[in-house]
Amino acid sequence: PASGPEREVRTTCPYCGVGCGVIARVAADGAVSLRGDGDHPANRGRLCSKGSALADTLVPDGRLLHPEIDGRRISWDEALDAVARRFSDAIARHGPDSVAFYVSGQLLTEDYYVANKLMKGFIGAANIDTNSRLCMASSVVGHKRGFGADAVPGSYEDFEQADLVVLVGSNLAWCHPVLNQRLLAARAARGTRIVVIDPRRTDCVGNADRHLALKAGSDALLFNGLLAHLAAGGHADAGFLAAHADGAEAALAAARADAPDIAVVARRCGLAEAEVAAFYGEFAATGRVVTVYSQGVNQSSQGSDTVNAILNVHFLTGRIGRPGCGPFSVTGQPNAMGGREVGGLANQLAAHMGFTAAEVDRVGRFWKAPRMAAKPGLKAVDLFRAIERGTVKAVWIMATNPAVSMPDASRVRRALAGCETVVVSDCIRDTDSGRFAHIRLPARGWSEKDGTVTNSDRTVSRQRAFRAGEGEARADWWIVTQVARRMGFAEAFPYESAAEIFREHAALSAFENGGARAFDIGALAAVDAAAYDGLAPFPWPWRAGGQAQQRLYGDGRFHTGHGRAQLLPVTATEPPRSLPDGALLLNSGRLRDQWHTMTRTGLSPRLSAHAPEPCLDVHPADAAARGLGDGGLARITTTAGEALARVRVTAAQGEGTVFLPMHWTDRFTGACVVGRLVDDEAVDPHSGQPDLKRMPATVQPY
Ligand code: SF4
Repeated sequence: PASGPEREVRTTCPYCGVGCGVIARVAADGAVSLRGDGDHPANRGRLCSKGSALADTLVPDGRLLHPEIDGRRISWDEALDAVARRFSDAIARHGPDSVAFYVSGQLLTEDYYVANKLMKGFIGAANIDTNSRLCMASSVVGHKRGFGADAVPGSYEDFEQADLVVLVGSNLAWCHPVLNQRLLAARAARGTRIVVIDPRRTDCVGNADRHLALKAGSDALLFNGLLAHLAAGGHADAGFLAAHADGAEAALAAARADAPDIAVVARRCGLAEAEVAAFYGEFAATGRVVTVYSQGVNQSSQGSDTVNAILNVHFLTGRIGRPGCGPFSVTGQPNAMGGREVGGLANQLAAHMGFTAAEVDRVGRFWKAPRMAAKPGLKAVDLFRAIERGTVKAVWIMATNPAVSMPDASRVRRALAGCETVVVSDCIRDTDSGRFAHIRLPARGWSEKDGTVTNSDRTVSRQRAFRAGEGEARADWWIVTQVARRMGFAEAFPYESAAEIFREHAALSAFENGGARAFDIGALAAVDAAAYDGLAPFPWPWRAGGQAQQRLYGDGRFHTGHGRAQLLPVTATEPPRSLPDGALLLNSGRLRDQWHTMTRTGLSPRLSAHAPEPCLDVHPADAAARGLGDGGLARITTTAGEALARVRVTAAQGEGTVFLPMHWTDRFTGACVVGRLVDDEAVDPHSGQPDLKRMPATVQPY
């Protein structure tokens, strides 16, 4: 550790979308201790187990320290020249669509911005997609259709001001622990009621008033039934609908056809009529309701429509734009929102724009772009299929591990193995995806890099460096900038600091961007380096007059062209994959104390103590029927692949389903990689988000 004067640095946790503020205290001998930032609006001093153990992870173990080509150490100049040359060659031979970037919600907004600018404005293709595709893409579509923009309308304070919080497909207790702590504190103080809608009996259920253990994937039907029930009971807000929303009649007609009465809803959702009726009654009777949704909704072949089914009930009843009200998407990653702001998804441009001719023109003029992409690029599943087919010749993977996390991970591995050029920039040397890299670029990690992130309630906060980078690691924005210069775009990529990139991002957000959209952080476009360094957390968007917006749509004006919310007709569909006799539905997700593929959390012994190995949760009846004993090994077989895991027999698991954590990789055990078990056939047709929650699987004793 370096020595120097003792100091404290405010930064932001790198894990989940709560985006907690962290204060790092660096002692004179370089030792680091961490605590929650009492002034940060997201956490007010709290940290969860993962955030509390961050100091354990500040070790050099496993780091990628130097650029490499084909496993051989090279200089940065050689590495950057090689990346630029290989990408330029592929473009010259096969056109701009023959190259791609696959990036990550772990990147900072500034990193995302330059990667997006290089691909969409200067290479001239939109083949940059992000692992947010696996996380939030369905919410993006739902938000754009309902609000006219991909915006979360409320703030965390709404959790504390609500009288009823409905958690749909969200294990908030494990996946957003500090937000859950805030909710439970509010419940203790004011008796907030909590309803959990989830096939599993998660840790949230112990603190809930009601648990609807519905059939996996039947959420859209449940909310269609609620919409019809609310209208039938006279709970529609006619004034709000008349003044601020369109589409109520069509949405209601679809809901009534889909869910004519509670008996039908209960039967199709696998619930008792009385519990559906009780939930509907409670929703109808409570003025302040927040509906929280996460991966159980998004990671579905009907994720986008389910989001709109949820939005519909809030529009119908005018429960939006007021304290303690609204639909609320909790994002998985620390910067899922920041990436979306700068166009990290293949079907978005920067500043939340899409690919209309006017939007392409506007961004192109701002960037002075020589080759603006005119159409959306390949979404993640299609992108890796294109690599497998050989139509994409060169791919650059930044800060993510698709060889584990993508569905049909075996196909992703085959694709990368056959790709002409695979570049991986990462902090860690030995990742499953890194093993396919021709060129590896060492990236700085949390504690070493500088920039901004945007959390689930649109609070922008700074990640600040408080340690030197390991080895020759450099910031992601710097790496992309250097490659862009070598590809001939030096003038457009002059950046020497993250602050310069932030200013440009802010200026683009404000560029010709007034009226109803008003995604405007133009007042921030002038921040100098010192002001950027000192930026306190602030809600986005930032209005030109300096007035931040912590809650949107309070004035009833939405981001649609005509300023009105849009209800959407939704028809619930059956699961996309047939369930063979004797098969169980495989669900997957996070554990409390691990993060993604464990490259960081796996370094902390105390975090690994919570669940030292991947266990398959099985309902007692399903275990008995298959001769599976608690603690024994099971072989899990799907049409995509096979895995082994230790069995945990638990009544918390819904009958007919099993659950496997997503974190383990070949680095830990090659026997249990969830991505190898789930195919990539079932994706949401609107968002391209894969259905990761409902894969038919045969489970047998091993
Ligand atoms: Fe980090 Fe999320 Fe835990 Fe907060 S709740 S400390 S952001 S992992």
